[in-house]
Amino acid sequence: MAAEYDILKTPIEFLKGVGPKRAEVFRKEFDIHTFDDLLHYYPYRHVDKSQIFKVSDIVEDGSYIQLRGRISNLQVVGQQRGKRLTAQFTDESGTLELVWFNGIKWVQELLQKKHEFIIFGKPTLYYGHWNMTHPELIDPNAQQESQVPMAFLPLYNTSDLAKKKTLDSKALAKIIANLLPVVHDVIPETLPEEMLRQLHLMPLRDALCQIHYPESHEQLSRATLRLKFDELFFLQLKMLKLKQINTQKTAGHRFPLVGQFFNSFYKNHLPFELTNAQKRVIREIRGDLGSGHQMNRLLQGDVGSGKTIIALFIMLLAKDNGYQSCLMAPTEILATQHYEKISRQVAPLGLRVEFLSGSTKTAKRRQILAGLENGDVDILIGTHALIEDNVQFQNLGLVVIDEQHRFGVEQRAKLWRKSAVPPHILVMTATPIPRTLAMTLYGDLDVSVIDELPSGRKPIITKHLYEKDRVRLFGFMKEQIAEGRQVFVVYPLIQESEKMDLLDLMAGYEAMEHDFPLPQYAIGVVHGKMKPEVKDYEMQRFARNETQILLSTTVIEVGIDVPNATVMVIENAERFGLSQLHQLRGRVGRGGNQSFCILMSKYELTADSRKRLNAMVQTNDGFEIANFDLQLRGPGDIQGTQQSGMLDFKIADISKDEKLVTYTRNLAIQVLNRDPDLALPENRRLAEMVAQLIDRDTNWSVIS
Ligand code: ADP
Ligand code: MG
Repeated sequence: MAAEYDILKTPIEFLKGVGPKRAEVFRKEFDIHTFDDLLHYYPYRHVDKSQIFKVSDIVEDGSYIQLRGRISNLQVVGQQRGKRLTAQFTDESGTLELVWFNGIKWVQELLQKKHEFIIFGKPTLYYGHWNMTHPELIDPNAQQESQVPMAFLPLYNTSDLAKKKTLDSKALAKIIANLLPVVHDVIPETLPEEMLRQLHLMPLRDALCQIHYPESHEQLSRATLRLKFDELFFLQLKMLKLKQINTQKTAGHRFPLVGQFFNSFYKNHLPFELTNAQKRVIREIRGDLGSGHQMNRLLQGDVGSGKTIIALFIMLLAKDNGYQSCLMAPTEILATQHYEKISRQVAPLGLRVEFLSGSTKTAKRRQILAGLENGDVDILIGTHALIEDNVQFQNLGLVVIDEQHRFGVEQRAKLWRKSAVPPHILVMTATPIPRTLAMTLYGDLDVSVIDELPSGRKPIITKHLYEKDRVRLFGFMKEQIAEGRQVFVVYPLIQESEKMDLLDLMAGYEAMEHDFPLPQYAIGVVHGKMKPEVKDYEMQRFARNETQILLSTTVIEVGIDVPNATVMVIENAERFGLSQLHQLRGRVGRGGNQSFCILMSKYELTADSRKRLNAMVQTNDGFEIANFDLQLRGPGDIQGTQQSGMLDFKIADISKDEKLVTYTRNLAIQVLNRDPDLALPENRRLAEMVAQLIDRDTNWSVIS
């Protein structure tokens, strides 16, 4: 065991072909320090020299391929620097143009002698014709004679600096070829023998070698599967283990009472009937809160499904049981809105609700902090400021996190450190998350879903319009305003050029002022550069229907609730992501009136933009949108997941490997059901892996 460990941990400079200088480049440019690190630096693609394709097989995916056929029609065209040699390549399925800019003479001579070739290169589409520049020319007879096995060559990502220091893909491939025979026999297996056999998985040591230099297509796909399997399976096992630790081993505050605050609000102050889904979710949460274990629950529900009222109910439950609670939102505007709404709702109950954010004045802050410590404040609402270390509660029992995408795993963990007995945690999602993503990112949480909108909601009608339709749009806005409704107009915000966006917004404002003159139409403006008080004032005016049109950048994206607003106009809609568009649309359709979402875009759109806008027009369902988004963008780009580090897969891709995510999840559940502590001898390897993983992640060590 000790010897095996040593070889894989050997510093990279001791590998044949590396040495101290290249080792430096490995460390700085690739974060590769040991043999083991290099072993896990997978190629992004292979050049397939094992097969001969046909012209008719060519697809535009940037792959290098081999073809076999005749070369004819040699022509030298162009002058001086534009001079090139072209030729026609033909096989039984079609033709392709070959082009050489260099070595023209040499190629001409070669092609005069022979006509049959195996060519190797990257086809590109050029004005509708396939074209290959500087193909490698291989004599088919020579190849047969030499009996060199045609093979897969790995291609590796490198950096410009690494290339300058002679570490290009080719060099890496050579060095890795030196590495594999040295380490193959000492790579430890991570899965139990029985599991490998049953699932027909390739042993890890073979997979790690075949992923670099596969013997065949089949070996490559088996190696890929094995490595993806490991990434996903162990992540799931870790998450489930953490969940087990939380729910079974972490003591939690017990909230057995349904008391005066909860009941009185339910009976006397609830302005509507709860939906069945809301009632069910409250029951699920109450189950957790009565269990004596700490709750870690994710509440998923489409925009407008009524998550806030659930948060309020359980905060009242906390109060009934003598605990303080807090509600955290990602933006100042949203936090303010929660604060105003909730303090209004609970005013008759005599609770003390406070608001805390980065912009709370010092004197006020001091007063609030004192109230938190002596237990005077029942409910605290605010932004990230809530989890700062100087915010101490007397008796914090519950934390609700709204619109969780922006709160990373680390921030969640920070909450646990707030007291000896960790508070219950409810995370509410801004946008539905595709199932696979939820399992991966929040696999340690229990999940509740609100799958029903409050009754009487009419589905929002979404239309995609172009600049030429603007007169029509303005006419429509006027009709809606004449009926007493209000309109949001949102402009995109791009961080790199906030000034530009402001210009867009201000230009839009001037146009609006012109087309929507006072006194019938009052227009408000909100953007990120405004002071919070000013923003707040403008929001309030709109909420009270003192302004009929609200122009804003995306600061209004999350959570804002103005039921009288029925039109959401999104300018330059092509510049928004799908989940953002869906969020914005969710700002209307909250009252009983028919609502509309108008997507304005330029006429020329990229294929992806068009797909996004079409998806918006076609469905109102947040889960469908989320799935679509995941397909379109891949998980790395889903808002807020980048920082989390949870999705740093080397080889798995949860947008494509959906089945494997579900499969490994179920398998991990099975394993833990049979052997909750991974104590059986056959699960020894799993136990070791999970212990390593949980240990390595310091964020999590605080809760285990
Ligand atoms: P979200 O789930 O997007 O956070 P909110 O909690 O902001 O949604 O609720 C959207 C709107 O629906 C609010 O105005 C809220 O008061 C209202 N609402 C919530 N639940 C119900 C219900 N059961 N019946 C009618 N209206 C409801
Ligand atoms: Mg909300």
